Amino acid sequence: MTEKNFSVFASGTFGDWAKAELKLPDGRSVLGKRFLKDIIGSTGCEISLNALPAGKSVPFFHAHKENEEVYIFLGGEGEMQVDGEIVPVREGSVVRIAPDGLRCMRNTGGEDLLSIVIQVREGSLRQRNREDGIIPEAPVSWVA
Ligand code: ZN
Repeated sequence: MTEKNFSVFASGTFGDWAKAELKLPDGRSVLGKRFLKDIIGSTGCEISLNALPAGKSVPFFHAHKENEEVYIFLGGEGEMQVDGEIVPVREGSVVRIAPDGLRCMRNTGGEDLLSIVIQVREGSLRQRNREDGIIPEAPVSWVA
């Protein structure tokens, strides 16, 4: 049996994202956060799906040792604070933060603040798009 070249995870609706429960090593849990690396078997990046409830802030600042993060906001309204600077965010906002940036996020709206966060080692991307892509000669067919 050969291993497939892909993995699939159904994360559900954004409403389902809010119900996801992340268990912390100290026994506490965080609602509305789910990491995907172990679920989908990604090897180069960590991805989290996040639904921060209305009126809530992440309860701590954090930075990273070597990973940068890209926050992609899908809905809601909020603010990111990075090194003391406050940036408003909403659907469509994309924020990249270097590892050293001391960051936090809060929801300032009335709906869940929805985001996807991609975490990857800073400086690790060696090629992309045309340098990395391979387009075979065969035409597209949807017949399996
Ligand atoms: Zn982080």
